[in-house]
Amino acid sequence: MRPEELKAGGMERGGEAATESVAIAAEAGRVSASAERAETGAVLPKTLLPGATVGVLGGGQLGRMMALAGSAMGYRFVALDPAPDAPCGQVTPQITAAYNDRDAARELARRSDVITYEFENVDAGVAALLAEESYVPQGSALLYTTQHRLREKAAIEAAGVPVAPYRKVGSLAELEAAAAELGLPCVLKTATGGYDGKGQAVIRRPEELAAAFRQVAPGAQAPELVLEKFIAFQCEISVIAARSASGEVKSFPPAENIHVDNILHLSIVPARVPEEIQRRACELAEQIVSGMNAVGLLAVEMFVTENGELFVNELAPRPHNSGHYTMDACITSQFEQHVRAICNLPLGDTSLLTPVVMVNVLGQHLEGAIQAACSADEAANKLGVSPKLHIYGKTESKTGRKMGHINLLCKDTGDGLSWVEQTNLWRN
Ligand code: AMP
Repeated sequence: MRPEELKAGGMERGGEAATESVAIAAEAGRVSASAERAETGAVLPKTLLPGATVGVLGGGQLGRMMALAGSAMGYRFVALDPAPDAPCGQVTPQITAAYNDRDAARELARRSDVITYEFENVDAGVAALLAEESYVPQGSALLYTTQHRLREKAAIEAAGVPVAPYRKVGSLAELEAAAAELGLPCVLKTATGGYDGKGQAVIRRPEELAAAFRQVAPGAQAPELVLEKFIAFQCEISVIAARSASGEVKSFPPAENIHVDNILHLSIVPARVPEEIQRRACELAEQIVSGMNAVGLLAVEMFVTENGELFVNELAPRPHNSGHYTMDACITSQFEQHVRAICNLPLGDTSLLTPVVMVNVLGQHLEGAIQAACSADEAANKLGVSPKLHIYGKTESKTGRKMGHINLLCKDTGDGLSWVEQTNLWRN
């Protein structure tokens, strides 16, 4: 979860609609962008063919990769981002303005047939304005849910999917009571605003409770916190599921994710868990995306325990870093799938074409990774690994900042992992 700026709300999301309006972007002509609504107020799904323009709120790497995939299909894109040389703006027209600039949002609506977002901290007023003036098939209900851990957990449970046992906590006394009920170890998290392991603390002994409370909720008058049972997981996996505006659902094969300092380092596919667990993980992700009537992609992060239980940790309603492997290793990439889902095309085949290891390229790896992937590579030849380089075009390279990734196509994921080991770039 990333920092919440404002809670989105007040917009009706597109639900199961009885009728479907088909808007065809003939000869790349503009179609009417404002949403048609059922009597209930629910947004009716529209089918948008290549030639239509997709407006993207946010111009980072996710928008860029979405635009590259969608442009290949003949869609046009326009992004809104405050940074003049944003990764997405390098490949599509860009409106350069703050995310909460109403006039800029209005311009985005005017220039787009359908609007999507590449991050979840969408300003509530802008979300409402875009829904009013354009067509936003994803709605804002899913954003509203996933911006808050308690709402998110309740929604996952309502879809019949397990999460780690948890309690809502608002004071030290409540924390003590919750810890007594759940038993230690536990993880204390802020309900909003935490991401990449920030805003959370693992509590192993009762005497750590007060310090954890002070650390996670420093100075807050009425903090909204969640205490979760610590799950001694065997590994972490994620499944990217997609649901189209008219309700078709598909999921990609689970990725096994390895984090270093709370930042995703590797995604390994197929995940090294039994096939039965992989199947179950896909079923759960599809159950959530259907249960929430989501439109577009939903990334579902899960813990796998030693005895094969699955607990959902968190959701992201957008393309996800752990789905970047699909760009080279699946018949359809997550980015193409997202465009298909919001434009209401049939969803693409998610089959895996080859085992793959995705390794993230952070600022400190950038130079070496480009060197390794762009010169004669004896290790890759010996191991039978094909490194596919993706660099996002960010102007400033910083330690810990995601600058790109490499998809290592291989016969066996062990070979991809050996390449990462031998390339010796990821040790710092
Ligand atoms: P999150 O911000 O919820 O994604 O958590 C960041 C990381 O902390 C996860 O990827 C896990 O490695 C770890 N973590 C979070 N919650 C738990 C939990 N309930 N039990 C064990 N580890 C956890």
